[in-house]
Amino acid sequence: MYLNYTAEQDRFREEARSFLKTKLPEDIRDRSLNGEERVAEDIKRWQRILHAQGWGAPSWPREFGGTGWSPIERYLFDLECALAGAPPQLPFGLKMVAPVLMRFGNSAQQQYFLPRILTGEHWWCQGYSEPGAGSDLASLKTRAVLDGDHYVVTGQKTWNTLGQHADWIFCLVRTDPSAKPQRGISFLLIDMKTPGISVKPITLLDGTQEVNEIWFENVRVPVANRVGEENQGWTYAKYLLGHERANIANVGTSRRQLRRLQRIAATQVRRGAPLLKDPHFRTRLAQLDIELTAFEITTLRVIAADEKKAEPGPEASILKIKATEIMQEISELMLDAIGIQALPFSATGHSGAASLTGLQPMSSITAQYLNLRKVSIYGGSNEIQKNIIAHMILDL
Ligand SMILES: Cc1cc2nc3c(=O)[nH]c(=O)nc-3n(C[C@H](O)[C@H](O)[C@H](O)COP(=O)(O)OP(=O)(O)OC[C@H]3O[C@@H](n4cnc5c(N)ncnc54)[C@H](O)[C@@H]3O)c2cc1C
Repeated sequence: MYLNYTAEQDRFREEARSFLKTKLPEDIRDRSLNGEERVAEDIKRWQRILHAQGWGAPSWPREFGGTGWSPIERYLFDLECALAGAPPQLPFGLKMVAPVLMRFGNSAQQQYFLPRILTGEHWWCQGYSEPGAGSDLASLKTRAVLDGDHYVVTGQKTWNTLGQHADWIFCLVRTDPSAKPQRGISFLLIDMKTPGISVKPITLLDGTQEVNEIWFENVRVPVANRVGEENQGWTYAKYLLGHERANIANVGTSRRQLRRLQRIAATQVRRGAPLLKDPHFRTRLAQLDIELTAFEITTLRVIAADEKKAEPGPEASILKIKATEIMQEISELMLDAIGIQALPFSATGHSGAASLTGLQPMSSITAQYLNLRKVSIYGGSNEIQKNIIAHMILDL
């Protein structure tokens, strides 16, 4: 296309493409390409397929069972997977808690948890946010009190993504309420089957149940499941957040959505001609294409600069903002493209929405538009990312 890669990188891409052509199951691919609601089993199945190929953990070093790929190879693999319609790998285990365990966990934790993340046996979720502790995460109140060789955990987490499927949750808990907010936090790994945990779904705008409240009532957690030092959890939490943000910038998914938008616009008719020929629409489409290409180049520049760094820097915040703005803009133009069909209208659309609206289920495009409002909030809201850029990059 417009970006030149080395011959070796082209060969790598070709290998990824032919693997995806033969190994990505058609039903999973079709659900992705049609923008249908994600099925948990698709994510698990795909993880097993990747693992069988030896590609279960593209971002991990070889010593832990990863591919040992370079950042650019990881980028190209993610790009090809997204373009082909592969489901995203679940980030909570692979890309969030695993880097923390590799850096700060002890060898027993590494040996037990990492292989199970790799095979997909353990589904992880993230227990950071609480009511009143989102942007201001350090004000979290979930309490962990030491009782012999266990902590007793009591409190509430919220906005927990896909915890209804989870085997394990990594949690920030307060172990010293008298210390300054950031100082009294610890990082615990909690088995979701432990008595005292309840998961209550929250219905999103599109009618899906992607997030939950998680309640802890006197949940006993072995001290052995604490990562690193007691009261030092904030350090590990921040390390994890850098990885979380770096992973939101998914160029491939936006590129795929833009192609879908072009296909849709070719079939929509306005004033007797395909929408794709409408000059105003074409201009908006071209603007988005240019923005996405510029973003792709910026992402590659950050990857090239990061090649020698062990962890993502504050540039992750720039990528997070731009990636999510582009995702939302594409979904807005898609909504414009389908016009009146965006209204709830057909029984073949997205499931779940009927319960909210009392009408027929809505189009998958409408559901996706509504669902993507979340991306400028999660992983730290875009306003918070701007604060990080102001402090850490612009030195304001
Ligand atoms: C769909 C979804 C999935 C999520 N998944 C998870 C998950 O799996 N695990 C988890 O732990 N959390 C998860 N979150 C929580 C997410 O990280 C928080 O919602 C986010 O950090 C914002 O916190 P808040 O919702 O409490 O909003 P608030 O912090 O109350 O913010 C409200 C508004 O004020 C703005 N604001 C707040 N402080 C400032 C400031 N200092 N400067 C400028 N503006 C500010 C914010 O940008 C926002 O617009 C998820 C959220 C969503 C929506």
